[in-house]
Amino acid sequence: MERHNSPKRAGQPLWLRLVRHNVPIILFLAAALVGMGAVYWFFNPDGGDAAAVTAVINHNTLSAPIFKDAPDKPVLQRLSQSAAPIRIGIIAGHKGFDSGAVCEDGLTEAAVNANLAERLVANLRARGIRAEILDEFDPRLTGYSATGLISIHADSCDYVNKFATGFKISGSTYTDSSKLSTCMESAYGASTGLPYHANTITADMANYHAFAEIAPGTPAIIIEVGFMNLDRKKLTVDTDPVVLGLINGVTCFLE
Ligand SMILES: [Zn+2]
Repeated sequence: MERHNSPKRAGQPLWLRLVRHNVPIILFLAAALVGMGAVYWFFNPDGGDAAAVTAVINHNTLSAPIFKDAPDKPVLQRLSQSAAPIRIGIIAGHKGFDSGAVCEDGLTEAAVNANLAERLVANLRARGIRAEILDEFDPRLTGYSATGLISIHADSCDYVNKFATGFKISGSTYTDSSKLSTCMESAYGASTGLPYHANTITADMANYHAFAEIAPGTPAIIIEVGFMNLDRKKLTVDTDPVVLGLINGVTCFLE
């Protein structure tokens, strides 16, 4: 092994010493560069003379053409590594099971929930978001895997007191659903002007059956969109702000 301060080579500049020490590597790199350049020149129809290349192909060198017209095919299958497509499940509360709360005039919570769920799903689909309505005890809920799940319910039609107005949200304790909860709370509150009613969240909401049925990893919330007594008009007549609040909650969550 040579010493770097050898007197014999001390006068040579560093680059020359490096070249001398690496002659085989430099020769190899040069040969590789020339080879790659030749291959590129030969196969590049734009840079070179495409007609000349084609002529060579037609005459002898290659047995198969290197230019082939292939029709564009739609991608039918995703790679397993790619992210799952967005899917939002909306449970129309009590659908397919019972009527939920009932008003004296026969208005049912199930009907209120179904109307809002259908409008929400239609709007999400119009925005290109895959969304679907599920029954309260939909068989698909077992192991249900989605970007998010929202169950829509409404509160009692009985007059309790003047404070029985507003909405509330409870999130799954199985999968972190805080972003969905936070987004829905702020978007729904802003759009409807309804107050948030945290102190009336019941065990039924916190231990909502679907939370335990769906696949782990699917964020889920249940929202009580309002009281059917004092908030009836917003839930049944002037429903645009309610629907918009739900939409904005979902889009905020998907951002
Ligand atoms: Zn309900």
